Amino acid sequence: MTLDSLSRDQIDAFLAEQQQAYAALQQAGLKLDITRGKPSAAQLDLSQDLLTTPVQDHVSGGVDVRNYGGGTGLAELRAIFAELLGVPVEQLLAGNNASLSMMHDSIVFALLHGTPEQPTPWRDGPVKFLCPAPGYDRHFAICEHLGIEMIPIAMLVDGPDMAAVREHVADPAVKGIWIVPTYANPTGAVVSEEVAAELAALQTAAPDFRILWDNAYAVHDLTEDHAKSADILGLCSAAGHPERPLMFASTSKITLAGSGVSFLAGSPANIAWYLSHTAIRTIGPDKVNQLRHAQFLGSAQGVLDLMARHREILAPKFATVLRILSERLAPHGVASWTEPKGGYFVSLDVVDGTASRVVQLAKEAGISLTPAGASFPYGKDPRDRNIRIAPSFPPLDELTQAMEGLTTCVLLAAAEKAVA
Ligand code: PLP
Repeated sequence: MTLDSLSRDQIDAFLAEQQQAYAALQQAGLKLDITRGKPSAAQLDLSQDLLTTPVQDHVSGGVDVRNYGGGTGLAELRAIFAELLGVPVEQLLAGNNASLSMMHDSIVFALLHGTPEQPTPWRDGPVKFLCPAPGYDRHFAICEHLGIEMIPIAMLVDGPDMAAVREHVADPAVKGIWIVPTYANPTGAVVSEEVAAELAALQTAAPDFRILWDNAYAVHDLTEDHAKSADILGLCSAAGHPERPLMFASTSKITLAGSGVSFLAGSPANIAWYLSHTAIRTIGPDKVNQLRHAQFLGSAQGVLDLMARHREILAPKFATVLRILSERLAPHGVASWTEPKGGYFVSLDVVDGTASRVVQLAKEAGISLTPAGASFPYGKDPRDRNIRIAPSFPPLDELTQAMEGLTTCVLLAAAEKAVA
């Protein structure tokens, strides 16, 4: 029976039951962590050979990878990822180990130096970004750190709420929007062709409006079906806004999260712009690592084969999370959650006003969860209901324990609220 159909006496009994279950949970002395979307050790082991791949032929395309230079990154690795990301290889750069740095730097360059279309630095006026939420907390951290005002808008199943986007882009201070197009963090949503086309064609008051298209999970399917990302570069060019998109990706969740390779794609003008600024910052990326990656991965098909092996490890974990949520929470009608077909997260919505309480209860029982509100600009979930679950890192038995414990906390918090 759902909680809202219970009589007062039944709710009191339900609360007592959950308090008992929670007391038992606390006594179990757990120490579990499902906070961040990190690959597990078993996943990292899939790329162990990267550590011993001999970079014998160290001259690649006329570039000695051991030396300075080669700012665009190695041609053979760019060719592999150009195919996977559906972009022209000349418009794709390969960088160091974190696409997040490329996102950060792109925004800093625009703030300090302006953009190819508009040399006036963004910082000369107010700068605002549209932030589909729930979204990726580190995108929001970049904005907050750089003094960019964040405007939360709803993230729907096929992308951002376009009515809200249309309304806000009439403000010339709105310079950009964050988009994770495929298997979004944390909802798993995939931006539809229609939404992508509308974003590309939007009339924006800012002449140098940017779509920060963070395709971190482009090839990270959890099923046999592949969700093809919309061709944002092509769509924007066709709509007469070639400079609008900046696309990011990386091998962080393909090979080694801490020692992968990042990618940035954009129009020829954006690529030249980015290189002109980044050339001041570095004399070139880590090409030894890029060559190791090219040799280890071999081809686009090599990447997809490796992703299939990740899937074998990840899919049972996601299935476990969804099974426990469904068995433990569905009968009581106290939560809803996403069932992602790829990516790294499950987004759980609990009873309004109880997410912080759930996270606190879990913490006191030894289960670390991402702070409530983390997936929202300024850490503020207006309904205090969203919790991001990251199933990838813990081994299956620990994940199972953590989920059993989490669901007990969700039920207890819901019961407490019902009697309050
Ligand atoms: N973008 C999204 C949407 C992510 O979820 C993550 C990591 O969780 C990243 C980027 C980080 O990417 P990188 O390791 O390339 O900096």
